[in-house]
Amino acid sequence: MRKVSEIEQFLCEMSPLPLAESWDNVGLLIGRRSASVNKVMTCLTLSPDVAEEACAAGVGLIVTHHPFPFKPSSKYTDATVEGRLFLRLIESGIAVFSSHTAFDGASEGINELILRGLGFSEMEPITQRDGLIGGVGRMTRGDLTVDQILDKLKGFLALKQISIVKGKPKVRKVGVVCGSGGDFISTAHAKGIDCFITGEATFHHSLLARSLGMNLILVGHYFSERFAMEIMAQRIGVKFPEISVFASQVESDPLALG
Ligand SMILES: [Zn+2]
Repeated sequence: MRKVSEIEQFLCEMSPLPLAESWDNVGLLIGRRSASVNKVMTCLTLSPDVAEEACAAGVGLIVTHHPFPFKPSSKYTDATVEGRLFLRLIESGIAVFSSHTAFDGASEGINELILRGLGFSEMEPITQRDGLIGGVGRMTRGDLTVDQILDKLKGFLALKQISIVKGKPKVRKVGVVCGSGGDFISTAHAKGIDCFITGEATFHHSLLARSLGMNLILVGHYFSERFAMEIMAQRIGVKFPEISVFASQVESDPLALG
């Protein structure tokens, strides 16, 4: 048995919360710090099916990448999906923790894990936070073709197909912002990034990338982040070997190829 507060402390060491974006909602979001936990589940998003899985497994703490709750709500009743989910967790005594953008930008966080997965070892934040190790995204110098990067990404993320806006075939600088990184295209271009990898972007972001001559690779929001929650489960399990830790088995990408 471990206290919620002990696991919280470890998660905050892994992803210092001051790294999170100002709009984010991170840290312990639901639960008592003094509660005992002998089972932890990680997931990308707390959806009703994932919550049911946690209840059935007797989980005491869910570490979710996307915060729940995210925005303040004045009502939590059974009239809405969010309200039912909140009530289910509270009534089941399940605590919820999220490090979200703090984990994205941390050293050994999601963006860094993606570049390491592509074989890169030296990297720096695309935009640095004052006084903090980390920031938004990660970038590195490379000497690859965009087709080689696509192949490596398919291998690392176990994907058969990846969407791309094609720019110049020869890549000199690769940047990554996991999740929805379309708003960082201009910043990335200003930093000399000619291959920008993110989860999802809009049609207009794609047009912007094309007009800049930048390769824009869209691996899907789910796939850009979900793998890291399996790594998160492994890390918690190594730190606290006496408790059971697993990544959600039922979670899946809501989008499918038709
Ligand atoms: Zn995300």
